[in-house]
Amino acid sequence: MIIFSDDDEKKRILIEKLKAITVDDFNAFLHHKNITTMCSMCHRAGEQIIDETDVKDIPSKPSSNRFVTFFHHQPVIHGDSDINYYYKLTCNHCGYITTYNLSSG
Ligand SMILES: [Zn+2]
Repeated sequence: MIIFSDDDEKKRILIEKLKAITVDDFNAFLHHKNITTMCSMCHRAGEQIIDETDVKDIPSKPSSNRFVTFFHHQPVIHGDSDINYYYKLTCNHCGYITTYNLSSG
């Protein structure tokens, strides 16, 4: 776990890394971990939606200006670390949401 302070350089670097993760990267991760695209609630296959952020207002890298949207939990007692960041998949059929925490490894 990496703990961040306010105005932390490590946090800035992490966010820059997350902004480089494409849907293809995320799908490769899921495949590598043997995670299927079947919803664990309604059992429909191939209906999982991965949110993407499109950054039109930031000078983009030549390859892509889209990355997998990442989310942030905010603890009530102030404190931030890399385990507060996560991704989510939403089932297009039933709306069930699966979240994937960032691994610090
Ligand atoms: Zn579902």
